[in-house]
Amino acid sequence: MDFDFTSEQQTFRRQVREWLTRHVPADLKGRGFASTRADREQVERLRGWQRELHKAGYVGIDWPHEYGGRGASLVEQIILYEEMSRSEAPQPLNRGGLSMLGPTLMEHGTPVQRERHLAKILTADEIWCQGFSEPNAGSDLANLQTRAALDGDHYVLNGQKVWTSMAHVSEWGFFLVRTDPAAPKHKGITFLLVDMKTPGITLRPLRQITGEAEFNEVFLENVRVPASNVVGKVNEGWKVAITTLAQERDVLTMIRHISLRTALERLIGLARRTKKNGHTAADDPVLRQKIAKLCTDERILQLNGYRSLTRILKGQPPGPEGSTSKLFWSEVDQELAEIATQVIGPYSQISGSSQWAPDEGQWEFYCLLARGSGIRAGTSEILRNILGERVLGLPKD
Ligand SMILES: Cc1cc2nc3c(=O)[nH]c(=O)nc-3n(C[C@H](O)[C@H](O)[C@H](O)COP(=O)(O)OP(=O)(O)OC[C@H]3O[C@@H](n4cnc5c(N)ncnc54)[C@H](O)[C@@H]3O)c2cc1C
Repeated sequence: MDFDFTSEQQTFRRQVREWLTRHVPADLKGRGFASTRADREQVERLRGWQRELHKAGYVGIDWPHEYGGRGASLVEQIILYEEMSRSEAPQPLNRGGLSMLGPTLMEHGTPVQRERHLAKILTADEIWCQGFSEPNAGSDLANLQTRAALDGDHYVLNGQKVWTSMAHVSEWGFFLVRTDPAAPKHKGITFLLVDMKTPGITLRPLRQITGEAEFNEVFLENVRVPASNVVGKVNEGWKVAITTLAQERDVLTMIRHISLRTALERLIGLARRTKKNGHTAADDPVLRQKIAKLCTDERILQLNGYRSLTRILKGQPPGPEGSTSKLFWSEVDQELAEIATQVIGPYSQISGSSQWAPDEGQWEFYCLLARGSGIRAGTSEILRNILGERVLGLPKD
């Protein structure tokens, strides 16, 4: 990887920086590193922000022109996110659509599906959720049991999904369903696009440790989905899901890392401001050491991200970097949350509604949210299994 940006990329960086300076709304600035996706009003505000970014040509930067993108490379996309972190702007809301479903449709979707869905992903007119996990299919995703039986030109869905983030504010969902129960478990799965307003879908919010309900249980009872909504081939949805999951682990980790950098910058500022016995937290040699280690780890994440980026730019399949980065990111994320509580002290426990909560309570939220970092997009145990067995060649048991 050549770490120097080209002069065009540097010009692009300057343009983005300048645009962000003028356009990040004051009420959203600085609320990016631990923002809620549960509150409907806040979601609408973030939808508006994505629209504004889109109008300026900053959404889908790495998508081809024919799909409404800018036709630039992932490098420009990363530059954009870096600048958004620098200016403390929130990221686009429609993460599942932009970083998971969009690339999946470009690879496996029909021209009609691309025409119907891609533009509305960019404008955030249609937010997407991911209906993969089930009560008995999390780490062992291929064990999923939601049935889809063909009836004329529709599939009829029955079953239950769980942990479906943002289902309550999504217009559409991409679901994995079982279309051939007799086939070996990886074979009888199909990838389906589901309109979340279809009769038979019931949502039940799940309240998290943060106190908010960002994810949901999704119950499906005789939900009729047009057969034309199958992405890829029937019973070959696992292959399609691998594309989505690789995007989630690889590209989304890079994006999550950039949010982590925003939090780290804030933490450094906080350490400089927070006084104990006449000294700031930044004067404490132990805390300084811990923050310095976080900075080193953040840099390692960045360089590992560049390694993933290099493979993607060369058109190579995702390598083990996605798993190492995801695993390492979740550990650094949780460490950062822990060190923040040491810097802030007892005030770190105060939630946003109190005038005494530092940074409007984002730290309290962040510390609780970080507990899920080692679970979502592959648990740490599963990632260690992947790295041990597939990369290091260790014995399975
Ligand atoms: C914040 C958050 C958002 C999420 N959003 C979504 C979403 O939008 N859509 C969606 O579909 N899912 C979502 N998920 C679900 C997520 O993908 C699952 O939680 C994850 O895959 C783990 O599955 P599980 O919860 O069923 O745990 P399980 O798979 O039951 O695992 C329980 C424990 O056992 C361990 N374990 C399991 N198998 C093994 C093994 N073979 N070897 C060693 N240890 C093992 C796991 O590491 C874990 O510690 C989200 C999760 C979180 C935390």
